[in-house]
Amino acid sequence: MIKVKVELGKNSYEISVGSDLLPRVGLWLKEKNFSGNAVIITDTTVRGLYADALERGLSAAGFKVTVLEMPPGEEQKTLANAGRLYQRMAEVFTERTSPVMALGGGVIGDLAGFVAATYMRGVPLVQVPTTLLAMADSSIGGKTAVDHLNLKNMVGAFYQPAMVVADLDTLKTLPREELVNGMAEIIKCAAIKDRGLFDFLEENMDAAVQLDTTVLENILEKNVRIKASVVEADEKESDSRRILNFGHTVGHAVEAVTDFQIKHGQAVAMGMVAAAKISCRLDMLNEEDAMKLEAVIGQAGLPVKLPELNRDEKEKLLDLIKHDKKVRDGKIIFVLLKSLGNAVVSDKVTAGLIGEVLFGWQSA
Ligand code: ADP
Ligand code: ZN
Repeated sequence: MIKVKVELGKNSYEISVGSDLLPRVGLWLKEKNFSGNAVIITDTTVRGLYADALERGLSAAGFKVTVLEMPPGEEQKTLANAGRLYQRMAEVFTERTSPVMALGGGVIGDLAGFVAATYMRGVPLVQVPTTLLAMADSSIGGKTAVDHLNLKNMVGAFYQPAMVVADLDTLKTLPREELVNGMAEIIKCAAIKDRGLFDFLEENMDAAVQLDTTVLENILEKNVRIKASVVEADEKESDSRRILNFGHTVGHAVEAVTDFQIKHGQAVAMGMVAAAKISCRLDMLNEEDAMKLEAVIGQAGLPVKLPELNRDEKEKLLDLIKHDKKVRDGKIIFVLLKSLGNAVVSDKVTAGLIGEVLFGWQSA
């Protein structure tokens, strides 16, 4: 098992990554002086697989456990469901000191995180991610949200967890497509911050997607350190945290233009290849590094090309990029690579340039 500390003053917390950790969460929480009612928020699929192991450990440590479940899926991330959860938590006398556990993927992490952040102005939140995407990315950094009015993550809060526990054994039941979805964010962290991790991924990608525990522990340790250091430098999202958006400007637009039929990690993979091409076009990055990035993405089983789009869809894609919430004073804030392991934030990338590089359009 490895532990990484996220240093945020009184909001500091520890991330544990390893095997067979679910049964130990109860004891760890007791050691932190939490007691009383513990609430596990999860989805139907994950409940059937992993709630028992978590629950047993909590009960053994003296907690009275309530399990609340949602059907799986992004469409469950609503204020209405948050409302239902507040109601159920009130019924079981959840108090300000009762830990609330988010057991599941990013959807549960966001929803349960939002509920923990807002119920009684905040109860202790424990992230127990069970997807690689949630372990590598969404459970760290304190972002919580629900969707509203068709906008993803429109209503939310920054709220740091008290603890993050990533039990690698849970990945054994995760469909391959979901697994590689998370690998995209790991490749992203390597590409923006850590050449060593990138080289390690190049050599060990096959072992990683086959769930070699030692390899995964190694990769997640480095990945979590990078994400933690960026979050520490900038808890509430401004400049230095922006580099985590590498691959996401084009990626988010691809997700939207395909009505979210493409998974986040796949869209980010395409977006990273696009951003590398744009970096080359601006003479920032050399072709060799761009090709290496594309190769690792392909090796993980992730797409390196945009899906087939018609003219209207291509225009809509560029339009979405121009109106991304990260646009500042009409300028697109775009993350480029100087080399593998070294990213910069630029406002020099225009929609015209993106159209030129992605679709071969002549910009005016
Ligand atoms: P993400 O972390 O990618 O945002 P979700 O929270 O939407 O993902 O979870 C993706 C799907 O995988 C959901 O249907 C969820 O029930 C399922 N799931 C989550 N963790 C596991 C697991 N460890 N094993 C099997 N299925 C899982
Ligand atoms: Zn992402």
